[in-house]
Parts: sequence; C-alpha cells; structure tokens
Amino acid sequence: MLGRFLKNVIGSKNERELKKLAPVVTRINELEPRCKGLSDTQLRAKTGEFKERIAKGETLDDIMPEAFAVVREASVRVLGMRHFDVQLLGGIVLHHGKIAEMKTGEGKTLAATLPLYLNALLERGSHLITVNDYLAKRDAEWMGGIYGLLGMSVGVIVHGMDDQKRKIAYNADIAYGTNNEFGFDYLRDNMKFSLDDCVQRELHFVIVDEVDSILIDESRTPLIISGPIERSEDVFYATLKPLIIKLKEHQDRFVRSILNRAQARLREGKDDDKTIELLLQVKRGDPKNPCFLDMMAKEPGLKKMIDRMESFLATQKTLYVLDEELYCVIDEQDRSANWTDKGLRLLSGDQQDAFVIPDLIEGLQEIDNDPHLNFREKKRIKRELEARYSETSERMHAAQQLIKACWLFNKDVDYVVKEGQVIIVDEFTGRLMPGRRWSDGLHQAVEAKEGVSVAEENQTLATITFQNYFRMYAKLAGMTGTADTEAPEFKKIYDLDVLVIPTHKKMIREDYPDVIYKTEREKFKAVVEEIKELHTKGQPVLVGTISIEKSERLSKTLRKEGIKHQVLNAKNHEREAEIIAQAGQNGTVTISTNMAGRGTDIVLGDGVPGLGGLHVLGTERHESRRIDNQLRGRSGRQGDQGSSRFYLSLEDDLMRIFGSERIASAMDRLGMEEDQPIEHQMISRAIEGAQKRVEGINFNIRKNLLEYDDVMNQQRKVIYSQRRQILKGDLLKETVKDMIDELVEAAVLDTTDPKVFPEEWNLGPLSEYMYNVFGFLPQFSKGEIKDLTQATLIDRLKQEALDLYEKKEEEIDSQSFHFLQGMAMLQAIDELWMDNLLAMDQLKEGIGLRGYGQMDPLKEYQKEGYSMFITMVEKIKEHTLRTLFRIRVALQEQPSDAIPKREMVLSHGGNGGSAPVKRKTPKIGRNDPCPCGSGKKYKRCCGG
Ligand code: ADP
Ligand code: MG
Repeated sequence: MLGRFLKNVIGSKNERELKKLAPVVTRINELEPRCKGLSDTQLRAKTGEFKERIAKGETLDDIMPEAFAVVREASVRVLGMRHFDVQLLGGIVLHHGKIAEMKTGEGKTLAATLPLYLNALLERGSHLITVNDYLAKRDAEWMGGIYGLLGMSVGVIVHGMDDQKRKIAYNADIAYGTNNEFGFDYLRDNMKFSLDDCVQRELHFVIVDEVDSILIDESRTPLIISGPIERSEDVFYATLKPLIIKLKEHQDRFVRSILNRAQARLREGKDDDKTIELLLQVKRGDPKNPCFLDMMAKEPGLKKMIDRMESFLATQKTLYVLDEELYCVIDEQDRSANWTDKGLRLLSGDQQDAFVIPDLIEGLQEIDNDPHLNFREKKRIKRELEARYSETSERMHAAQQLIKACWLFNKDVDYVVKEGQVIIVDEFTGRLMPGRRWSDGLHQAVEAKEGVSVAEENQTLATITFQNYFRMYAKLAGMTGTADTEAPEFKKIYDLDVLVIPTHKKMIREDYPDVIYKTEREKFKAVVEEIKELHTKGQPVLVGTISIEKSERLSKTLRKEGIKHQVLNAKNHEREAEIIAQAGQNGTVTISTNMAGRGTDIVLGDGVPGLGGLHVLGTERHESRRIDNQLRGRSGRQGDQGSSRFYLSLEDDLMRIFGSERIASAMDRLGMEEDQPIEHQMISRAIEGAQKRVEGINFNIRKNLLEYDDVMNQQRKVIYSQRRQILKGDLLKETVKDMIDELVEAAVLDTTDPKVFPEEWNLGPLSEYMYNVFGFLPQFSKGEIKDLTQATLIDRLKQEALDLYEKKEEEIDSQSFHFLQGMAMLQAIDELWMDNLLAMDQLKEGIGLRGYGQMDPLKEYQKEGYSMFITMVEKIKEHTLRTLFRIRVALQEQPSDAIPKREMVLSHGGNGGSAPVKRKTPKIGRNDPCPCGSGKKYKRCCGG
C-alpha cells in the first residue's frame, strides 16, 4: 500500500520536474522555422555567434533553446532525423547534469548531441562515454555529420591508439570513448614526466551512456595499472643460495650430533642440566627438526624444562655461550634468524668484508680528515664507501631472508610450489593465496630456495574506481533505459538525480507475468516448446540467459530440435551488433546473455508487427531488476508491437539463495504439480522482494569499496595535484627551500634536547642524517659546540644546506637545474606513492583479517592510512633532497631522453570490457645511469 503511495509521490515529482522544462521545448519548437530559413553556412556561423555571446556574459542556459534548435536543424539536414520533443527533454536533463532515463530505442544517441554541442561551446571539451569501442566509433561517426555541419570537431578514443592520436581526439570539441580508455588515460597522464605528454585536458562535461552499466555494474572493480618492480637485491638470492645451503648442512650436521648426544643421555636416565642445554641448543639451531618436535610432543615435561632453561640463561646473559657453537640462531617466535660469528666465518669465506657493513660516518670522517687526499679523491672514495655500504646491507638482508626461508618456512605447510610458482598457504584458513607475496624479499628467498625462477614482482602503479574518476568531472550526466530502480544509489554516490523521460510513442508491449516451474529441467523443456511454437509461427524471439554456460546449453537443445538460431555471447561487439540488428526479422531466434549487444536496437522485419512483434523470453531472473528490465526493453521500442515473459524455476540461483522458502510454501499452497507451471501475482512480488534484497547487498558492497577508496582518493588528489604543479614548473625553488627548512628543523629538534648542555648532545645521528639527505657532514669545533642552541644550530645547518643548493644551481646552469629539480621531485613522488599504494593494499587486507573487536575497520583504515600518508610525504622530501644534493655537473646525456618508462599492465576486474593490455616499453636497468642526471647508477639513486 505504502509502496504504491510513495510511487505516486515520486511519479508526480517526476512529472512536475518535466513540466518545468516544457516551456524550453516550446521555445525550441518556435525557433524551428527560423532555423529552416538559414543556409548551411549561416547555420554553421551560429556556433561562432554563440561563443561570442558567451564571451559577453550570456550563460549556456540562456543560449540553450537556440543552440538546441540549431542542432536539431543540422540533424534534419545531415541525418534526416528530427529530434522528437522527448529527445529535447532528454537533452535538457542531460545538460542539467542529471540522468535521463529513456527507454531502449528512444534515440539517446541523438538526444545527447544537443547538450554535447551546447557544452562544447565553452571550448573546454564535452565527452561521451560508451560501453565499448564499437559504439564509440559508431556513434561518433553517425553523429559526426551534425557536428561537422556546425563546425565542431569530433574525436574518438579507442583501444590501441597511440598517445599522439589520443591527444588530438581529446582536444576535439567533442570526444567519444569508453570508460576504460578515459580512466586509464587519466591514470597514465598522472604518471608522465611532462605536460606535453599528457593526452587528456580538463574533465569538464561528460555524458555516460548506459550509465547504470558503467557506474553501477562495472564500478565494483577499480581500474588498475600495474607493472613489475625489480629490486636490486634480487641478484643476491641466487648467488647466496649455495652459501646458505652450505650453512644449513653444517648446522644440520651439528644439530644432529647434539641431538644424538642428548638422546643418549636421556636413555641413560640423565635428564640433568647438561641434557637440557643440549636440547635447548637443538631448539635454537633447528626448532622444526622433526625428531626434536617428536620428542617434545611425547614429553611435554622436557619442553617445559627447555623453556625454563632458556629464560634462565637469557637473564644470566649466558645464552650466547650455547649459541656460539651454532652457525645461526633461529627464533621461531619472532620468526627471525641470525647468524653467529661461526656462521659468518663460514659465509664470508675468504671475502671477509662481504658481510660486514662498514661504518659510514666514521669512514666519511676519516676520508675528510685525510690530509693526503685532494677534494676530488675524497669525493670518489666517499662514493665508493657509500656503494659498499649499501651493497653489503642488501647482501646481508638477502642472506637473512634466505636463512628464514630455509629454516622457518616449510613447503606444503607455509607454501606450495605449483607450476613454477611459490603460492602462500593462508595460515588461518589453509587456503591457497595465488598472487599474494610475502614482502621484504622473503618471497624471493623462498623462490630461490625452491629453485623456481625469482618472479618479477608486479605492483600497482596507479589505480582508481570509476566512481572517483567520474566524480572529478565538473558536470556529470548519464542516460540509460533503466536507471529508476537504482535512483537512490545514483543520488547517494554521485549526487545524480534521475528523471524518467516519457516515450515518444505509447509503449504497447505486453509484459506477461512470470511462470514458475519446480525444476530447471521442466523449465527449459517449456522454454524450448515455446520457442518452437513461436518459430513455427514466424514471430522473432529473443531469449535471454543469465550466463554463457546456460546459453550454450539451450543452443545445444535447439540444435537437436532443428531450430535455426544465433547465439550471442562473444566479446566481439561489432558482430554482436550485427546479430542483434537482425533479431527482429521474421522467424529469427536469438539467444543472448543479458548484457550482450547493448546499444543496438532491434528493428522489426516486414510482417513481424502483424505477428505480435518481437517476443522477449527470459529464462531466469537476474539478481537485479534493472537487468531484467533491460532485456524486456529490447522489445516494444518506439511504440512497436511486442511482448515479454520470464520463465523461472525453484532451482534458479536467485530462488534458491534468496527467498525460496516463502515462494516454495506459497507454491505448495497454490497446489503445484509436475510439469505444471504456476503464474501468480504473489510469486512475482516475492521474487521482486528477493531481487530488492540482493540489490541492497550489492549496493552495500559498492558503497564499501567507495568508502575505502575515498581514503586513497584524498591522497591521490593531493599527490596528483602536486605532480601537476611540478610539471608546470611552478615554484619549484620555493618548494625545495621549504623542504630544506622543514627537514633541517625537524632533524635538529628530533636529535637534540634543549634541557641538556650542548656539549652533551650526541651529534652523531644528526650528522648522519645531514650526510644522508644533504650530502655533507657538518663540522663543529669544540668551542663552537658549547655556545649552540637548537635555534642557532638550525640556522647554521639551514644556511649551509642552502649555500650548497645555490652552488649546485650555479654549477649546472639554471635551466638544467630547474629541470632536474622537477625530475627529482617526480621520481621521489612516484616511487613513494607506489610504495604507499602497496602498503595501503596490505593495510586494507590486514584490517579485514584483524578482528578489530569493537573498532570500526573503516575508521582504523582511515587513521592508519592517514599516518602512512604523512610519513610518505616526509620521505618524499628526503628522497628529493637526497637526489638533488647529489646531482653532479658531469651531464653526459640529454636528461629528457632518459626518462624511465615502465612496462604496464592495465586491468579492470577479471572480465572487464577490454582485455588487459601489455605495453612494452624499454625500462632502465638497475645498473644504468640514473636519468635524474646524478651520474650514479639508477639503483643507487632514484631507483634505490
Ligand atoms: P537508444 O540508444 O536510446 O536505445 P538509439 O540512439 O540507438 O536508441 O536509436 C534507436 C533508433 O532510433 C535508431 O535506429 C535511430 O535511427 C532512431 N531514431 C532516434 N531518434 C530518431 C528521430 N528523431 N527520428 C527518427 N529516428 C530516430
Ligand atoms: Mg544507445
């Protein structure tokens, strides 16, 4: 009751809204005769005239009636189609940034030309988004004549186009293309290194065709650009593996011998301290030793004694005595592994230094104080020292991870090896987690251990949801045949109103109530009977199935029955369109998945109206009413004859999962026999109820995705706008100076304590930091230090850094320096932003897994995400300055040629419109010179 009442209110609101627009339509109609009187040239001149009037202050709304009249006239001349009044209405609604619900076949393509033209008068671009490339091309060509006559250019962006063509297309007055292309171009633009390379211009006005499909169905999976990341450590894994194996062999032998000794003692009945110590040694050397684990399981008392001994020795600080005899010590609880001196000797063999990290600060000071070296030599030796420092650190890290992999991670427990890949086994659920990788090199270590090739790691380089992409447009509008059922979602998420535009001609399609069978088998039997009957009669029928698999099954049966038919489920949109276009011919049977062939309307063949027009036969209800309506809407376009009916069974997913009980009992009450279908109002209502519930669930999933993405969206906006600013070259110097100020200040405040005398300050960490970031070691004389305050120290270091910075600029010449400065910032931003994307991904996953008790996981995600972002921003500054302060004069190559290009994979879900694309571009190797011009190897500089 209430439902109907509400519907009336909404219905009348829709009418009220439309009524308000009626005068505009009248006005456009009044202008028609005058437009008819214009020559083609005069009609074209209108475009310039409108633009001038806009320049003088008129608004688009002022001009709308005239502009629409001009477009309509152009259409009549070029295409022989005169926009119907309802199409004018649709056009106005679109111009107002709303969703126009116009049924299939009402001519949305033509309606869109009106607002596209009008908004293009501002010369900021008008975009039309289609669901596939085929429609983008078709619509742009089809409507292109109108724009051409009016002196407006049209562009199409389709898959496989190069950047140059894309740029031209985006710069056209009006551009057509798919959501994927537009979204990916946006992401790609924000990874570029110069404004000239960017293909998109501002996001001004967009109309999304089949808006429900794009903004609702496809919005559940974000667009992702990913690419391989290569870590310099990777080379170490393979080379270190034999060493680690040797280490493990030695350790195993040793552990076996002490285990034997312990067992012998136990057999003799000696469970004294000595025995326990031996067992403790086993535990620390190989906690997962099967023999040892077996003993522990059999005698829990022993385990207790070992643990007690361990903590006793730890407090006595004598645990090392036991450890010293081992090659490495494994801590299962911390999941950590450390080699002992004995192990280190074995590892390093005759290369004593390989596993000893040099003391950087001390080393640098020594070099500085060495009177025998000149400035140049000092620099060179310093660089060598730095290189050795980072190489050793990397090697040691890899060795540590390998040890962990060998002792703590077991095949078929923690991971499995399948088809040359190491796949993690989830420790809670025991499920395989393909695609997931352990971080921090551990995965590579396990791969090396198992002898499978160390995989290049794929990382998200950029990502965005459609929701967030389209919300960036200054004005967003949409059109579709089916939006009304999703109106609340459009309102809530996109702030889009839906207006239902009446049809041009009265809709006379007959929608029969659903029929329901007990089993799927009976249902399909009846479906085939019905198709046979219609086919014999000659009436065309469009059969909708909800999956490819079901459409194929039905096709097989029809073949057996000798009924000629077409099946639509391929991903070839061009052919789909062709088949759909024929679906209204006499005697045609077309089987289609619900979504296939969108955008093409079905024209009835000769004599078909007399047979009742196109009949739509649904073989199952979809989860969403909207999709069902779309299928129905294929029939009865523009006042055509037509009919529709859905066949269901209690075994259908929707019925099984949602609300089958109520329906089943209702059916029992109504009395249902084998092969006897049932047709009842109550059942249809129950089904609709089930659909509404599923729609609600799906809405929540999408809302949830969006809420999580919003956190990232804020960050993305900040990062991308910073990138833009850098690309424009604005205020680079000021930004760098601010960075210097900030970092110096923070470093001093962090490392000194104003309550303590300056002589007692430990300036070591500060010096290390200054060297690390600014590339110089501050020198303080004894006398100087005692007079320092935090403020004077800050001033002094700032000044020193600034001087150095200015000197660099002079050395290199302003222009190059300006360029390099931008590059350094971009690279720092990109590098860390991508790390951040990865970390945010992990955070999201982690938060899903962590049982958060009373806490709201979204809030936790926001909180932690924010603090990660702040840390990232800090790091970007450090990274930038580190690069800048190390730029050297010797520039051997043109910097602009050396911009790193990444290999990228674009994806949208597993089954999005277009398949993932691989773009191969040369990338810089880790050992190549860094493109920032520092002269260092890439991996030691921006790539490090
Ligand atoms: P929709 O996208 O709304 O489903 P289309 O834009 O594909 O519909 O148009 C459906 C059909 O209607 C097309 O074949 C088109 O030629 C025809 N059509 C649209 N508008 C008009 C018009 N004003 N006059 C004549 N035919 C029209
Ligand atoms: Mg269309």
